[in-house]
Amino acid sequence: MRILAFDIGGTEIKYALCDENFNLTQSSSIPTNAHEGGRRIIERVVEIIKTFDNVDRIGVSTAGQVNSVTGEIIFATDSIPGYTGVKIKEIIETETGIPAAVENDVNSAAIGEAIFGAAKGCPDFICLTYGTGIGGAIFINGKLFTGSSFSAGEFGHFVTHAGGKDCTCGGKGCYETYASTSALVRLVAEKTSQQMNGREIFASLDNPQIKACVDEWIDEIVVGLKGLVYIFNPSVVVAGGGVMSQEYITDEINKRLQDELMQSFRKVRVVKALMGNDANKLGAAYLASQL
Ligand SMILES: [Zn+2]
Repeated sequence: MRILAFDIGGTEIKYALCDENFNLTQSSSIPTNAHEGGRRIIERVVEIIKTFDNVDRIGVSTAGQVNSVTGEIIFATDSIPGYTGVKIKEIIETETGIPAAVENDVNSAAIGEAIFGAAKGCPDFICLTYGTGIGGAIFINGKLFTGSSFSAGEFGHFVTHAGGKDCTCGGKGCYETYASTSALVRLVAEKTSQQMNGREIFASLDNPQIKACVDEWIDEIVVGLKGLVYIFNPSVVVAGGGVMSQEYITDEINKRLQDELMQSFRKVRVVKALMGNDANKLGAAYLASQL
């Protein structure tokens, strides 16, 4: 089976061909040109599909909230204008005649990790991606849990500080305003008056002032994980996002989490995501293979 897998993000549309053993070949990308609008993005995806011969299935991982049954965008922010309501699956299937599966990017990455990566063989796990915000996905009994309207696992807006800092969602005190990579960058700027990006911060851990900020931020990560571990009792927490490649972070998270949890929950391990940028495409390709 030949599957063409897409990963549609706010800045790039990545794609690759996937064989029956889930090896990705012919990886490529084009700029999303999000300002042209959601409908145009899918037209360009269709144009790419038409350049490939003998494709059996299409898998699409995309930004935005997705109804994975109808393959439609149920909500997208203005980062891709006019994307809400775009019927991706219907457009692709009508234009190309090839069956398509569509899933949200965080869920696609979690499926990639579940089948091929850090959570392989773990039926019950949660996945969090730390970046500008915090995304999440939940696996129960080997299946992605989507909730009543395909929006479960929005861990970034789980409140960890009642009445705390303003969040982009309109709420206050959300987990991502304290524990995302952006929150760390803000914290360092506040405490040291230095504008540093994540990479510069981790290259400066020998500076006690910077290290104190990182340690404070790790405590914020752990507070949220502790609540989630009590709710889901996962065997594994898969942590994604560039910052998680720092061993110091995952080691500290595991240490502090173990210290804080009640004994019966301490089997949980926080592991970094293994599939990197390919997780989304592989997850989408896997879903397409199951059609
Ligand atoms: Zn929020």
